[in-house]
Amino acid sequence: MVGGGHNGLTCAGYLAKAGQKVLVLEARPVAGGGCATEELTAPGFTHNFHSNFHGLIHWGPVYRDLELERHGARYLWPENQFAHVFPGGDALVCSLGVDETVKSIERFSRRDARVFRDLAREYGDALKNAMVPSFFAPPQRPSQEIAPLEETVDGLRALWGNFTTPNHLARALFDSPEVQTWIGFWVAQLAGTGDVFGLGANYPVMLAGSLEPFGWAIAVGGSNKLAQAMVSFVEEHGGTVRVDAPVRQIEVTDGHAAAIRLDNGERIEARTVVSNLDPRMTFLELVGEGELDEAFARSVKRWRYDAMSMFCLYLALETPVRWQAAELEPKVQRCFAVSMCEDLQLLEDNASDCRLGMPPRTPGLFTVHPSLFEPSLAPAGKEACFVEQIAPYELRDGSWQDEREPYAETVLARWREYASGLEPSNVAARYISSPIDIERVMPSMRHGDWNHGEMSQDQLGIFRPFYEYPPYRTAFDNVYLCGASTHPGGSISGACGHNAAGAICEDLGIARWWG
Ligand SMILES: Cc1cc2nc3c(=O)[nH]c(=O)nc-3n(C[C@H](O)[C@H](O)[C@H](O)COP(=O)(O)OP(=O)(O)OC[C@H]3O[C@@H](n4cnc5c(N)ncnc54)[C@H](O)[C@@H]3O)c2cc1C
Repeated sequence: MVGGGHNGLTCAGYLAKAGQKVLVLEARPVAGGGCATEELTAPGFTHNFHSNFHGLIHWGPVYRDLELERHGARYLWPENQFAHVFPGGDALVCSLGVDETVKSIERFSRRDARVFRDLAREYGDALKNAMVPSFFAPPQRPSQEIAPLEETVDGLRALWGNFTTPNHLARALFDSPEVQTWIGFWVAQLAGTGDVFGLGANYPVMLAGSLEPFGWAIAVGGSNKLAQAMVSFVEEHGGTVRVDAPVRQIEVTDGHAAAIRLDNGERIEARTVVSNLDPRMTFLELVGEGELDEAFARSVKRWRYDAMSMFCLYLALETPVRWQAAELEPKVQRCFAVSMCEDLQLLEDNASDCRLGMPPRTPGLFTVHPSLFEPSLAPAGKEACFVEQIAPYELRDGSWQDEREPYAETVLARWREYASGLEPSNVAARYISSPIDIERVMPSMRHGDWNHGEMSQDQLGIFRPFYEYPPYRTAFDNVYLCGASTHPGGSISGACGHNAAGAICEDLGIARWWG
């Protein structure tokens, strides 16, 4: 296994329990990829460097199949999942309970509150009965997915929702500009933007996914605990996870992989190679373009990273952030995520700035507050939090080396319009991660792309990453892909690793032990 992200570990876990001799080779000193937890800012302040919101890993079978709780993973579900604060000092809050959430919406629009309640039911059913099962199975042909929806007006409405942009859908569903902005901004977080056609399909995951019986959870002790539980499962079943073991080369002959070469020159023979990395890294860099036939090289080069990455600022605060909106809506003070963006037009402008190679001039911000719920992440009475928003990997003018510090000030100035506690005297320490830093720290996130490749219609489902080969397979008969560049894509779900293990078992004639 090249790469020990959560997908690589998931795949390794399923294969190890199926009786295979598995070796995971991870470049970094800690396994887990985007499940990284580090003292980034100051002693005692522990930050989940990438993922904080763990949802799909619980909704699908991986958490149960790999017995992750027995291997040390623990979770808690914040009652107030996400809030959006507005210029007048008001806020909208999504709580786990739909009644509580509906009450918050009623203050803005009674009609929108009714629509939300209906959608919660409709999307909840879609998530449980259609979407989650489809994530944990190989992708279907487009016509198979679409055909059943073509038969009725309700089906066509759902299809339209899947094809349109998150922002168009917000405007079509809700009347109140505040409700539109609250939900639109939240749904945009999954892929970064609200103006890409096809991403309306994310509504059930983000809307129903934030309500009971689903919800976004925080790993007790930090997100890396999930990865360590996976490592423990792999090892219990006879597998080995080696860290500080960057792979330099996948040796191939005649369309077949023979061995792995590490950076330190060590050569390890392998019967099957599975890569947690994207197709470009796996084939252009580790196999080498010269080893690919021309058609396959073209397929690999077709793979696109997203133009938009993320700018993140991690803060160690002497006292927690105090939101102005808490006066009108006290729940905002204890929320997993709080965002600010005046309207959907600004969200679209942010994306346009990124496409022009400019960090958003007036960024909409997404702030995350895990230590309010998981006190081990910060010293008593203090807060470890972070703020993120979209940013381009490539700047038209200047470089991130020069821009990161001044841009952190832009972000803080924006945040201070809505909250106190962000004055220099209250900030014990900070850590800035620009798009180039994401790539530097996490070598699998090329271009700062946390999904290992843009999540757009032409790179989803059967197109992720090659339509020329069956899902998870490649032009090499014993090289497989199992990371976020495969169906269903990025996020902490374990789905890519789970599905890849199924494909490998099918090809090698190994009996699957899972359902
Ligand atoms: C700032 C940020 C916030 C995020 N927030 C969330 C969130 O809240 N919820 C959520 O679900 N998702 C979130 N994500 C996305 C999520 O982290 C990724 O989609 C996910 O980590 C992808 O998992 P993976 O296992 O496929 O790959 P990765 O996590 O990228 O793991 C791949 C592994 O391969 C290793 N590797 C790279 N090169 C080599 C090599 N040559 N040899 C050996 N090993 C190598 C890497 O070190 C890494 O450990 C976030 C991402 C970022 C950047």
